[in-house]
Amino acid sequence: MTLNPAGFYKGKHYTEWVDDVKRLKDENKLDECLALLFGLIEATEREAKAEGWPYGAPGYYEQAAIVFRKLKRYGDEIEVLKRWKNGGPQFEQRIRAAQALLANKKSSPQDKKVTRYQNKCLKFSADIGVGENIFKKKLFELTSEFNNEGMPAPKYGDVFWKIANERCNQASLNGDIAAIGRFRRSMAEFLVFEKRDWVPMTKDSIRAFITAELMQNDKTKSSGIIVLKNDLPYELTDLAIRGCKCEKCLPDNGKRQPLSFFKDQNISPLPHQDCLKPPCKCVWSKPWWD
Ligand SMILES: [Zn+2]
Ligand SMILES: [Zn+2]
Repeated sequence: MTLNPAGFYKGKHYTEWVDDVKRLKDENKLDECLALLFGLIEATEREAKAEGWPYGAPGYYEQAAIVFRKLKRYGDEIEVLKRWKNGGPQFEQRIRAAQALLANKKSSPQDKKVTRYQNKCLKFSADIGVGENIFKKKLFELTSEFNNEGMPAPKYGDVFWKIANERCNQASLNGDIAAIGRFRRSMAEFLVFEKRDWVPMTKDSIRAFITAELMQNDKTKSSGIIVLKNDLPYELTDLAIRGCKCEKCLPDNGKRQPLSFFKDQNISPLPHQDCLKPPCKCVWSKPWWD
């Protein structure tokens, strides 16, 4: 029987990885084992799709469930079992058992702290348009990548950072500079959350927003489209500060500068480093609201 290439993971068919799964489990390298198993689950799903079979091979889902049980990650256990045939009859009992364990699980303050941190990272990721499923997929990818380089398992924050950088690169390829500004803003918020220096990232974000405004203005001029302000033709001649209304930022709100001011990437006084609600959300933008 020839093996369908759709069922390959890192150069081998998923059926050829069984000993590796067993070895990682025996060696108690459970994060690594999960990273491998999720790669294999995807391979079985790809093969099933290519062959026109309704489902992937259930054994890999079950192995992942066993590892999650060892880690007392009952919610994840239920999730992976339901991924196969919506938790088909084969897994019903196991799902019920995991649900009972989940209901009885008392989480320690440390567990709660980790859960809060993870949920926050998921929220940051959702803010830049990446949902939980893709996030978890990335988590497993990164786990196997880190493992190949002999590094400890990635944290949720590492995953958010990787996703955010990929989103920026993609936006850059698409020429969507305003999106880069938004992603950089979320990254600056994440830096505040992690109590790290948020200022350079915020500067990048502000520069991206300015560039987007100027590009849009140039395009408008060259394409003959007239931007309207209060129904009157309008051409951008200056930018104004708007954004944060905290005590430290407010005095600069509405301050204007001509476009020439922004040559040489001048963006002062933004961001306000003494903003009371960091990262300072002030931007230079069209002075349309006045
Ligand atoms: Zn500000
Ligand atoms: Zn402020």
